[in-house]
Amino acid sequence: MKKITIAIDGYSSCGKSTMAKDLAREIGYIYVDSGAMYRAVTLYALDNGIIQGEEIDESRLKQEMKNIHISFQFNAERGCPDTYLNGERVEDRIRTLEVSNHVSPVAALPFVREEMVRQQQHMGEEGGIIMDGRDIGTTVFPNAELKIFVTASAEIRAQRRYDELTAKGEACDIADILRNVEERDYIDTHREVSPLRQASDAIVLDNSHLTIPEQKAWLLREYQRAASK
Ligand code: C5P
Repeated sequence: MKKITIAIDGYSSCGKSTMAKDLAREIGYIYVDSGAMYRAVTLYALDNGIIQGEEIDESRLKQEMKNIHISFQFNAERGCPDTYLNGERVEDRIRTLEVSNHVSPVAALPFVREEMVRQQQHMGEEGGIIMDGRDIGTTVFPNAELKIFVTASAEIRAQRRYDELTAKGEACDIADILRNVEERDYIDTHREVSPLRQASDAIVLDNSHLTIPEQKAWLLREYQRAASK
């Protein structure tokens, strides 16, 4: 079958990356979590005092973009790529609620998006890639052969994120997580540059009441259909 490009977009914590990772493993494609890249930029800004409280020092961040090097290395134990920031593995640090609370305003900055999109398009030049995010089917790969738009209710997404964080031993409150999910939805859908929206040729999947194996089987069928066209 030919190597295609698969774009998976949708709201925060709707299980996009779980299904994307599973499919990539199964069909031997590269998986790229574009949200991890925006999270890594945010972590850099937090670590370097570029974000103070709610304020982002935009001109400093713009200057520092050239010093932010994000890469992925496949972790055989986890069966998917880990995120590295300037050579340091940051896979766990980018998933904290602190980073989640600051990432959407950082991701709304045009110069941040421009640089991330440039890198993402470069990663996808050869095809055979599954990328998940918010603007993959609309901006990064508008010609992707398969575009999926995933959605689920905010409450279900907050519960999933809560289960994920508590499983990792991070103390958290479900109300804080729901607030974060709703805030990110708002910022992601209202920003000026590449807002989160369904591409006109995307297939919608509401996975509120689907199990992970059911989603996986659905996505595999859609992939087979798209790749055999
Ligand atoms: O996918 P994840 O929730 O980890 O993404 C973190 C944040 O990065 C999102 O809330 C969104 O603000 C931003 N993002 C984006 N464009 C992408 C992927 C993520 O703006 N393609």
